[in-house]
Amino acid sequence: MKNECYIVRDLLPSYIDQLCSEESARFVEQHIDICEKCSQLLHQMRIEVDTEKQPEISARLEQKKPFQKIAYFFNAQKNFSKFFKISFWIALLATLGFFVYSISVFSNLVHERKESSIVEQQKKDIMKKAFAILSTEASIDEKGLQTIFDEYSGQLQHLSVFSSKIINDVTRLQKGPINTFPIDYSQAVLIIGENGKITEPIIPSDYDIGTVAMANDRWIVQYEYKESYLKTVENAHQIKHYAPSIWTIFQLPIVFTIITVFILGGWLFQKRMIKPVENLLD
Ligand SMILES: [Zn+2]
Repeated sequence: MKNECYIVRDLLPSYIDQLCSEESARFVEQHIDICEKCSQLLHQMRIEVDTEKQPEISARLEQKKPFQKIAYFFNAQKNFSKFFKISFWIALLATLGFFVYSISVFSNLVHERKESSIVEQQKKDIMKKAFAILSTEASIDEKGLQTIFDEYSGQLQHLSVFSSKIINDVTRLQKGPINTFPIDYSQAVLIIGENGKITEPIIPSDYDIGTVAMANDRWIVQYEYKESYLKTVENAHQIKHYAPSIWTIFQLPIVFTIITVFILGGWLFQKRMIKPVENLLD
């Protein structure tokens, strides 16, 4: 081994790690070209260094793993956030749609209730006017009753008066105008129709809300609605007894509002959570 060989071997570790000066590196390379043994030694040392470095790399990868996991976690959060965003807009649109629908149902109901109360008020008015006339005279004021009939001729088929004695329990009819199955018209004291007093036999309406009756101590007043007015009466009856409550009408939009608020809450929470690392995730 030459003297040069000793110097080169001292320099080899620094040469491999690329730490020696340019002059030294050139010196090493020139020597390697001509010296078989040093060339072999360099080759050998490079292999050793590589195998030494191997675990170091995998150790570095191990160190990176937790950060990767965090990155995965936050990426998942970001996707979750996207899901929240889409869900929120869908829920919001559905809520608005349901609100619009419920408001139209509600305004329709308000309108129908008004019509229903008109029909109810009309019942009371007709009876009030009829009994006012019946109480003033000892005998029945036929003209007075005809005036009432004419006033409501668009709605009424007949207006009739019975003695209260023909019914066993008249108290049921004394509380106010009620829909009832018609009393047989052959027992009537007076029946008034479009063309005045009716004397021929009458077949009453078989529709159970087509006839209204009310009584005082002496008289029973019974009238029947015109066929063409029955639909209005039926609607009024339905609305009075079976109208949906405001809660029922607005149930769906209210439930959807709650769902939307929850989704919005979740979305905002997600946003706040990933905000500090948002820039790192792109
Ligand atoms: Zn040498």
